[in-house]
Amino acid sequence: MSVDTVSRRQIGMSAPSLSARELELVERVMRSNVLSIGPMVEEFESRVADLIGVQHAVAVNSGTAGLHACLIATGVADGDEVITSSYSFVASANAIAYERARPVFVDIDPLSFNLDPNRIEDAITPRTRAIMPVHVFGQPADMDPILEIARRRHLAVIEDACEAIGAAYKGRQAGTMGDAGVFAFYPNKQITTGEGGVIVTNRRDLADTCRSLRNQGRDVHDGWLQHTRLGFNYRMSELHAAVGVGQLERFDELMARRSRVAEWYADGLAAIPDVDAPTIVASTTAMSWFVYVVRLARGLDRHAIIEALAGRGVPSRPYFPPIHLQPHYRSAYGYTEGSLPLTEDLGARTLALPFHGDLPQEDVSFVCDALRAAVAR
Ligand SMILES: *Cc1c(COP(=O)(O)O)cnc(C)c1O
Repeated sequence: MSVDTVSRRQIGMSAPSLSARELELVERVMRSNVLSIGPMVEEFESRVADLIGVQHAVAVNSGTAGLHACLIATGVADGDEVITSSYSFVASANAIAYERARPVFVDIDPLSFNLDPNRIEDAITPRTRAIMPVHVFGQPADMDPILEIARRRHLAVIEDACEAIGAAYKGRQAGTMGDAGVFAFYPNKQITTGEGGVIVTNRRDLADTCRSLRNQGRDVHDGWLQHTRLGFNYRMSELHAAVGVGQLERFDELMARRSRVAEWYADGLAAIPDVDAPTIVASTTAMSWFVYVVRLARGLDRHAIIEALAGRGVPSRPYFPPIHLQPHYRSAYGYTEGSLPLTEDLGARTLALPFHGDLPQEDVSFVCDALRAAVAR
């Protein structure tokens, strides 16, 4: 549902792409009177498993909930350390902090913006329990060396694939390479359920534990009101699953639309000095376009560029302010400036432009023109 752009443009930062089909499926759930723990969630899970090529899919009510459940299921507990990236959405590290484990941030690869595998070994201590790579902006992290280190050092690998459904690394689907992976379905993601997420894994034990964790700790074999472990209410409702089933039916089309918009951007940005389009590294065999983040040359005033764009009706966001410099992480863990130079440098000069699958080509051109003017000032 694209915005009317006749006179003064007001371009949206992101927008879900919804159709009559999602409405029809939601209506079917409403009429069935089964609003939770029903067939639509099962349908959603089996479609996700088929799409990604994985044995188990466990739907939850957010990506954050999915990450939290995976961390518990792989044994992360109080006092443990989990190696992850600070150049991410705060949810990645929050999920670790919920278990009173310590997020240990390592610096990133400046091209892919993902966890640099060469820096992981130095960060491992006797308390390290897991590695949580984030496939940031829909581009997979360099998984082979990460998996090799994890195997050798007996660490779990949980993929934060919340921004990367459908992305592939050397032909393998994001989310399927570690012990477990998580996709998220907030409205700005590639597909949405309103709020929601899903855990994918080929390990039956992890799937069973996650099913239990999302349902107040009730085990698969437990009777009604019998609770083996401390669990949560992380269930996805039937209504949310209905939206997700409708989105999955159109998955290829939704992804293709996003790729097309990304191509328009790459063409439009090629002519703008001091602005770099995203780099797609060689190991990325399928990009899953989540947001469109450009890198501004050092010395450009990002704040002034954001203001100039806003003046022409073009929203933009300073993605990602590093997690380790967020007030909570500074005060709870003592992180300070200078600890992650590449993350901090990129965090200060990357900029997310308006991006979604229904963005018209004229709007992409308009954004590129506005950006060229803003950078030239
Ligand atoms: C969206 C996202 C999540 C999870 O988000 P929810 O809003 O809880 O669904 C986790 N990690 C990253 C990197 C994300 O972008």
